[in-house]
Amino acid sequence: MDLLPKSVGSRFGEMMHHIAPRCTITLHKAPFMSSNLYIPKTCKHCGNAFTARTTVTKYCSDICAKRAYKVRKRNEKVQATLEETIQQQKEIVNHYNPNAVNNKDFLSVTEASQLIGVSRWTIQRMIQQGRLKAVPFGRKHIVARWQIENLFN
Ligand SMILES: [Zn+2]
Repeated sequence: MDLLPKSVGSRFGEMMHHIAPRCTITLHKAPFMSSNLYIPKTCKHCGNAFTARTTVTKYCSDICAKRAYKVRKRNEKVQATLEETIQQQKEIVNHYNPNAVNNKDFLSVTEASQLIGVSRWTIQRMIQQGRLKAVPFGRKHIVARWQIENLFN
């Protein structure tokens, strides 16, 4: 009679209620999803507490699920526009400023750190450890750009 394996309840930490009526329709389609499980959850959209019947339910209602979907789609759009703008700005900078870090073949430690977004000390440590090849020019170290790109190969 019980289609759900005994282990499921304890494994996922779900509450098992014996008195709750089963939904025979869902049970037939997906015996592992339905059952007399009651999982206390918080709606990821409105924040209301609700009881879920499956482990994958995120929202308290269809309305919240639809609204959350809309918000997600909108955010994705905003993100895409943002990335496009950043890319365009980068291209403008590269075009008009040949001295931009991105356009230089040889970099100081500071410029190298700017290029990959780490601290100067990280670059210096990498040079000391021999992980990044640098040539000393007086008291300064110069790093060839391709050496940095090589780190990612
Ligand atoms: Zn909700």
